[in-house]
Amino acid sequence: MRRQGDAPDTRTNGYEIEKTIPASDTSEEKGVLSQRQGAAPDTRTNKSEEKGVMDQPQYNTSKKTRRGNISIFVPHNGCPHQCSFCDQRSITGVKSQPSPADVDSAVQTALSSKQRYDLEIAFFGGSFTAIDRTYMISLLDAANVYVKRGDVSGIRVSTRPDYIDEEVLTILKSRGVTAIELGAQSMCDEVLRANRRGHTENDVENASRLIRQFGISLGLQMMTGLYKSDRERDIYTAKKIIALAPDTVRIYPTVTIKGTMLASLFESGEYKPMELEESVELCAVLLKMFLENNIEVIRLGLHYSDELVRGMAFDNYHPAFRELCENKIMLERFFELCRSRGIEIGSSLRVYVNPSCVSKFTGQSRANIKKINERGINVKTIPDGDIKPYDMKIEPVSEEYRGAVRK
Ligand code: SF4
Repeated sequence: MRRQGDAPDTRTNGYEIEKTIPASDTSEEKGVLSQRQGAAPDTRTNKSEEKGVMDQPQYNTSKKTRRGNISIFVPHNGCPHQCSFCDQRSITGVKSQPSPADVDSAVQTALSSKQRYDLEIAFFGGSFTAIDRTYMISLLDAANVYVKRGDVSGIRVSTRPDYIDEEVLTILKSRGVTAIELGAQSMCDEVLRANRRGHTENDVENASRLIRQFGISLGLQMMTGLYKSDRERDIYTAKKIIALAPDTVRIYPTVTIKGTMLASLFESGEYKPMELEESVELCAVLLKMFLENNIEVIRLGLHYSDELVRGMAFDNYHPAFRELCENKIMLERFFELCRSRGIEIGSSLRVYVNPSCVSKFTGQSRANIKKINERGINVKTIPDGDIKPYDMKIEPVSEEYRGAVRK
């Protein structure tokens, strides 16, 4: 089971690579959507994952430093909250909690890998600072051994904004925590109230400020398409998040999971989940906003799991959601350039894009190229390291080349 929301949705207790983005790329988290969306990343779909086993690296990005998370999912059994998108009640009490020995085991497994990554130990689950304090410290102490030895570069935790104060930050900081991700979900109090988050926009702002004051890296997570939210409110949330200048962001389009309050609202007609197409359009805008503000989007969309797909009350999920958004950004940029350059139907163009963006430009199954061709324009895509990610340069080709293309 996974939950969306509260934190990186990937509680896969394991080893995962996060994308390192050049000036304007992105990466990700894992999010447990399992039935608690918004709660924390995760995708442990089997027993071994619960105890912290290495996943295969998922990203192998650029020439920059490759980062890996040794992800350990810490469920908040008995969570007193009732977030609209979370089915935690059905799982409360049944998730085993990792022990300090499990932390050891997960880290040892990761360190024995031949592949070299800049590793962090990541406690996901979305409520790390809300769990029993003695237990929390025991996990941190087990992890901090590896930080002190220099085997890993730090510890990352995900939690709720209303469980951050100076006391807990002092504990986290003294035990090697270098990054905290907060499940903000929305920056509209009405949306937070309607979805029973149990915290306010102010809580997010105050917690973010405190985390910064402690010199800890800040990550913020938002959900789109929540009950009582809409495009404007989600864009407003992104603007407020940008104003808080987080180091990283995760964006989760809401998935309506059976058995949740959202599912009941959907069944009664009170809540209308966002359609996939609308969601892609919105999230492409949000992604662009964060990129333009040099904020790394380390996750966009929930990780796939059979369990997630089986549990949906409304189908607006796509396993390659981020790719769809990136494709859209590239296609819009292309047509924007064509308009500004007065490119006419029948033109043949060379399109120079950053090597990391070739497939983003061509689109899934060359969908973007087909759309461009439908407008009567022929293109040849050329990787060019001088072009910034998500940007491009277009250049009309000679008659001679055009003839070659037609043949
Ligand atoms: S705070 Fe509790 S109810 Fe809300 S998403 Fe997290 S686990 Fe679920």
